[in-house]
Amino acid sequence: MLSEEEVRCLKSAGKAVSSTLKLIAYKIHEGMPLVEICEMAEDNIRMMGCEPAFPCNVSVNSVAAHYTSRLGDASVLPPKGLVKIDVGAHVNGFIADAAITIALSSDCEPLVQAAEKALEAAISNMRAGVKISFLGSTIESTIRNFGFKPIRNLSGHMLKQYMLHGEKNIPNVPVESKTSVEPFEVYAVEPFATNGVGVVVDSQEVYIFRYVNPKKADKDEKSLLRALWSRFRGLPFCDRWIKDLITAEPRDKLLSLLSKGALYGYPVLVEKGRGLVAQAEHTVIVYEDGVEVTTLF
Ligand code: MN
Ligand code: MN
Repeated sequence: MLSEEEVRCLKSAGKAVSSTLKLIAYKIHEGMPLVEICEMAEDNIRMMGCEPAFPCNVSVNSVAAHYTSRLGDASVLPPKGLVKIDVGAHVNGFIADAAITIALSSDCEPLVQAAEKALEAAISNMRAGVKISFLGSTIESTIRNFGFKPIRNLSGHMLKQYMLHGEKNIPNVPVESKTSVEPFEVYAVEPFATNGVGVVVDSQEVYIFRYVNPKKADKDEKSLLRALWSRFRGLPFCDRWIKDLITAEPRDKLLSLLSKGALYGYPVLVEKGRGLVAQAEHTVIVYEDGVEVTTLF
């Protein structure tokens, strides 16, 4: 079950996310510093009375996901870029997660359409009892009808309190699974379409981290890890958010905790064939007799 209070939190997080995506879609332009996009998005979420559920992801061209600006990032939006903006907000750990793709060149519009139509098709089939594999085949066939491929090793995911990736996934292709969607579950549905090979690989870059294992740290590090836990719980964060906790070179400290296994790092994901990638995402609450999209704009 979901209590009325939990639904209220989910909806207020959803409102913050949709207003943020609208704002960014309006402000975005070629040459815009990526860090400006990230901070504008995260500030807007806080202004709406929520907390960011993860650092704003700004993933350009063949980068599919998990890029956020590090401290001192000087990169800017390239001419004709295809930009995925993926933002999350939470209230008491109840999360909304949604994304849009903005094509700075009209050449990329069909790819954006493919991802958006696949999301629409999946949501129109979202209901208690539907098999996740059916949703995957709906997404795949919609994207293939545009002449593109879904990214098969990325998927939508269940959202739980303070947990961005719950046990169940919503695949972007059909899968061997009898799993169904059940009432009072919350999901982020997120098709990715590409003109590449349809697979993402990890790059060497990591800018987003999550707390995992305090046992693998020395005494000083343990107090830092305690502070990270109390601020973010199990939700992802980045060096820009912890300047007050680590004054000197926060990124080096995070990388050192990562190498010890005290933190988990999300590598930047890149399309294997260096194809362009578009993404569309909404958060959906499943009830016994219907669904509610919390992030509609
Ligand atoms: Mn997302
Ligand atoms: Mn997601």
